[in-house]
Amino acid sequence: MLTVRCARCHQTAAYDPHQWHCGTCGGPWEPLRPLPFDHHAIRPHRPGIWRYADLWPLPGEPLTLGEGWTPLIPLPHVDGRLWAKLDYLTPTGSYKDRGTATGLAALCALGVREVMDNSSGNAGASLAAYAARAGLRATLFVPAHASPAKKAQIRRMGAHLIEVSGPRQAATQAMEEALQTGGIYASHVYNPFILLGLAAAAWEIWEQLGRAPDAILVPLGHGMLFLGLYLGFEALLAAGYIERPPRLYGVQAAACAPLARAFAAGQKDPEPVPEGETIAEGVRIAAPPRGREILAAVRATGGALLAVSEEEIRAAQDQLARTGLFVEPTGALAMAAWKQALRPEDRAAVVMLTGSGLKSPPV
Ligand SMILES: [Zn+2]
Repeated sequence: MLTVRCARCHQTAAYDPHQWHCGTCGGPWEPLRPLPFDHHAIRPHRPGIWRYADLWPLPGEPLTLGEGWTPLIPLPHVDGRLWAKLDYLTPTGSYKDRGTATGLAALCALGVREVMDNSSGNAGASLAAYAARAGLRATLFVPAHASPAKKAQIRRMGAHLIEVSGPRQAATQAMEEALQTGGIYASHVYNPFILLGLAAAAWEIWEQLGRAPDAILVPLGHGMLFLGLYLGFEALLAAGYIERPPRLYGVQAAACAPLARAFAAGQKDPEPVPEGETIAEGVRIAAPPRGREILAAVRATGGALLAVSEEEIRAAQDQLARTGLFVEPTGALAMAAWKQALRPEDRAAVVMLTGSGLKSPPV
């Protein structure tokens, strides 16, 4: 049995992947918090994120393709105070692999054999890979406008790909209809065990830097990596390894920025916005289900939710490319906002580079 708790009313329950939300208040599920952390439990000989597996409630052998333990390197800007976490160097070229590994391991532990998802690409490619590795049947509902490279990647790994025209919401509706006839939604948003692998990114940064950075910037759509980092540093704080968490900054594309807007307005919950066009397709999320939790987390760390223009995203992508780091537009969002986050007294800030440039269409 895997135990989860509601992020809003805090009641605990045995995890049932058919129940996306808490039955009492409708809140999203999360792992029991704070996550346990003890540096004696780290097993450096294990691959990637699984060095922390003794801290997790997941039974059985690791479900791994080598995700995690990505490089943390200094960038040639700002006197060496700016670091990049190369989270696009993963089995399918995006940070999603961290969470897919732990999320799918949880479903396998519950005996699930068939999964569905509605990803725009990176989560879908990641699910296809880990489903193939775990021997699960996977069906992906993908917006027709997603990048051809991402769709090809999903097909080659043996998943059933269904293209849906219209906005991302149309793919979600098609999947929800299909779920009526069976299968489990292997969601990259609702499955709380995704957050374990994502929290590992915080622990890796802490190990690699030798301490917590002052600030971390992360692209933000559904905000799962943001929440994972928050849970990871919360665990380090609770266990006495750090004195305070880094300021966390979530960066959205201005064309679709419900959380940056809610943060600026001082709201507790985001309001849905029109799904505007942006080259950062991975964060084109008009109504993020964990919005309330993200807004609370960012305020708790003293960070901010920021929005950047298409021009700023392109400039950041170019700037990274000219230092040898080739990321997709979504993966460049954090880099587009560092000047808004770094303070003169900061010793180290980290930008999360989340998706490979090889995935986006050539321009
Ligand atoms: Zn609840």
